[in-house]
Amino acid sequence: MGVNFVVVGGGPAGVQAASYAARLGAHVTVVERDVLGGAANLWDCIPSKAMIATGGMLALMSRASRMGIRKTDLQPDLESIKMRIATITDHLERSNRDLLSSQGVRVIRGEARFLDPFHIAVKLTEGDEIELGGDAILIATGSRPRVPHWAPIDGDRVLTTRQAYPPPEIPEHLIVVGSGVTGVEFVHMFRTFGSKVSLIVSRQQILPQKDPEVAAALEADFLDSGVELYKGARAKGIHRSDDGGVVVECDDGRSVTGSHCLLAIGSLPNYESLELEKAGVQVDQGGYISVDHHCVSNVKHIYVAGDISGKLPLASVATMQGRKVAEHVMGLDSREHRHLDYDKAASAIFTEPEIADVGLAEAEAFALGRKMRVTKVPFAANARALINGDSRGFIKILSDPATGVVLGGSIVGACAAELISVIALAVTANLKVADIVESLLVHPALAEALAEAAD
Ligand SMILES: Cc1cc2nc3c(=O)[nH]c(=O)nc-3n(C[C@H](O)[C@H](O)[C@H](O)COP(=O)(O)OP(=O)(O)OC[C@H]3O[C@@H](n4cnc5c(N)ncnc54)[C@H](O)[C@@H]3O)c2cc1C
Repeated sequence: MGVNFVVVGGGPAGVQAASYAARLGAHVTVVERDVLGGAANLWDCIPSKAMIATGGMLALMSRASRMGIRKTDLQPDLESIKMRIATITDHLERSNRDLLSSQGVRVIRGEARFLDPFHIAVKLTEGDEIELGGDAILIATGSRPRVPHWAPIDGDRVLTTRQAYPPPEIPEHLIVVGSGVTGVEFVHMFRTFGSKVSLIVSRQQILPQKDPEVAAALEADFLDSGVELYKGARAKGIHRSDDGGVVVECDDGRSVTGSHCLLAIGSLPNYESLELEKAGVQVDQGGYISVDHHCVSNVKHIYVAGDISGKLPLASVATMQGRKVAEHVMGLDSREHRHLDYDKAASAIFTEPEIADVGLAEAEAFALGRKMRVTKVPFAANARALINGDSRGFIKILSDPATGVVLGGSIVGACAAELISVIALAVTANLKVADIVESLLVHPALAEALAEAAD
């Protein structure tokens, strides 16, 4: 008689929790109404990065003459891009399916809702309804793009992120509303496809949550490539113009006219269809479900992981929460179980230059009045960066001046999302700057700049 564990939602949180709990011996059932891999696979991380990779190839080829290659005229082919994305998504879905089936996890395609705290009804995609019971239940139903009442989304000219992989045509002039991580990634994506791009920035800094120096580096690159920034402006209305274009009205009286508009103004949790009141699970005002450090909701056998927990909305965090849930469900928390420290989550922005950070940021340390050693090295002197023809950006490492323990870091530049792993490991394992400096690294490599920045 093992633990009966029911997982609702097959995104990164649900798949990880299911697979790890099954490895630890639970009987696991996953209910997913769409595809395994979740929105992360179908709408968010994967298709956006696939589009960015295609745009990156176009941008790279447009700089080919710098590498000693005569320029060629390249055009994106929207049908091929769509097929490429579908191939990647299908492949990842199949990998998730194979992983779960190899561990004996039962996967049910349908939409789940609670009947009571221990039972769930599933409306199967084929039509019937079945009932499932669980000793432990995980809610991992994710989130969807926020669409305000003033935005007439039509999938043609006025788009959410989900309609951009690729849109029906490459916009001649795209207006992006929202300058957080998602917004700036779409600005970058479409400028590489040759669109003119305008960005509505509600504050005075793009990426308002990020280190100002990091945000300024991206902003400078945007301005260099002709992106128009409308700072201190909040969109409050969108309408079609007489010539078929789109006009975005801002609260400061300005209006921006373009051919298309894309909204990237956050997300909303998927909780409505779950009938949580029948299980006694409480949601906050925004619809998120609060959890303790084991991802347990106010009902002790009902767990919550991923975007719906209202923590950091990242697939990587969702995955790690899923792992922690599996450990707790299977009673591992008293042994090797370490609590998740959200302050140590690395994150990346897939723009060009790429941006990544982890741990404490310089501005944050300053605001806390905390003494900090900050060391910074530009890629301009790095041999591999020069060879690659892209030496933009820098690496910044923050450490404790007394102990040398690495507390955080930011990277702006090529491969930042990969390079940050070294600083993330140092932050998680309380390594010292000397541990990075004295690693025998490859030459020539971008990673050499990490050792220099740590020195
Ligand atoms: C454009 C964009 C790009 C992003 N890029 C990145 C990135 O590069 N890196 C990163 O780390 N994060 C990225 N994110 C964030 C990331 O996508 C989310 O944090 C992640 O998907 C959350 O995973 P999850 O498991 O909570 O839910 P999801 O991936 O949203 O999956 C939830 C699943 O639950 C299912 N579901 C919902 N309700 C029910 C129900 N009642 N019954 C059955 N099934 C149900 C849904 O169909 C869905 O498949 C991006 C987000 C956006 C919007």
